[in-house]
Amino acid sequence: MGALTKFFSHLHKMVASYFLTVLPEIIRLIILAIFVLWKFYRLVSSNYKYMSMINKKSSKFVYRRNHGHLKSDFQECAICLSEFVEGEKGRELECKHMFHRHCVEKWLQEYKATCPLCRNSIVSEEILAEYHRVKDEQNNSIIEKELALILLSVMHGGTCHGF
Ligand SMILES: [Zn+2]
Ligand SMILES: [Zn+2]
Repeated sequence: MGALTKFFSHLHKMVASYFLTVLPEIIRLIILAIFVLWKFYRLVSSNYKYMSMINKKSSKFVYRRNHGHLKSDFQECAICLSEFVEGEKGRELECKHMFHRHCVEKWLQEYKATCPLCRNSIVSEEILAEYHRVKDEQNNSIIEKELALILLSVMHGGTCHGF
């Protein structure tokens, strides 16, 4: 009977010390996971706002030679300098300048929020600033690396002192 009590008290100590080591890691993991989700939410929402602004300030079209979509001097996309081909998807900005859809979307998302030809701005200052802030944060983030380190350390049952 004494041996059994001793065994249970030993087991209890083992479980308690295991939780004391692992619990702080789990709490840190949860906090980091919340940060990552929050950042992901901000990224998705700022992308959504940015894209819906572009959609509002431009219209999509599919190039059809016979329908006279493009005036004679707008036969080519000024970004890739290629001529429009029958059936290609394009985007006409507010300023009436037209480009391939993928060319102008890449331009607006990665370079500038203005028309490549006349520099008319497409996205409001406020949405543009938020879009770039969130993008920069994403590029310089150490939170995801920290999360990966802690995950590894929890899986190995050790502790991590990197935070
Ligand atoms: Zn193009
Ligand atoms: Zn323009």
